[in-house]
Amino acid sequence: MMTSNTLAKGVRPHTTHSACPERMAEYGGKTVGCCCTGHVCKIKVLFLDIDGVVNSRATTDFRQLYPLDKYMAFMVGKIQLDTGCKVVLSSSWRNHPDGVAVVNKSIVQTIDITPNMSGMRGNEIAEWLRLHPEVERYAILDDDSDMLPEQMPNFFKTTFDTGLTEDIAKAVTDHLNGVAA
Ligand SMILES: [Mg+2]
Repeated sequence: MMTSNTLAKGVRPHTTHSACPERMAEYGGKTVGCCCTGHVCKIKVLFLDIDGVVNSRATTDFRQLYPLDKYMAFMVGKIQLDTGCKVVLSSSWRNHPDGVAVVNKSIVQTIDITPNMSGMRGNEIAEWLRLHPEVERYAILDDDSDMLPEQMPNFFKTTFDTGLTEDIAKAVTDHLNGVAA
C-alpha cells in the first residue's frame, strides 16, 4: 500500500470512507481507512480509557463488573457524532471480550484496541499511531498520565473523582475539529 498523500489524478480530496472513490483498505479485518491510488484517507481518532473517564468514584454500583455512567457514555457518543472520529479502546477493558462488548453496545462502536506492550499507555498509543499513518488528528482521554511528551497536546486528562465532564468533552471535540481553544 502506498502511503504517500499525493492524490491520484482525478481523485478529489475526501475524508470519509463513503466519499472514497476507490477501494477500502483493511487492517486486521477492521476497516479504518480507505486507500486510493497513492492516497490514504485521513481519519481522526479518539483513544478512549474507561475507568475514570466513563465512570467515576460516584458511579454507585461497583458490584457490576463493568460499571458505567450513562451521561458520561452519552458524552463520548456525542464527541464521536460531533467530530466524526473513530474510537480506539486504550482501556484495560480491551483485554476482556465482555468489556469490549459492553463498550461497543453501551458507549460507542470502537474500531480497534491498542496493543498490549509495556503497560505504559503512551507507548501503546504511539505504536498504534505508527501502524496507522492515515491518522491526521487524535485525542487521548484518560485519567492516568503515562503519556509521551509529544502526545501531551493531544491528551485530555480526567480524574477518577469526576470522570468525563462537559468542559473536557467540549475541549476534546474542539481539538478533534481543529477549533482553537
Ligand atoms: Mg483509567
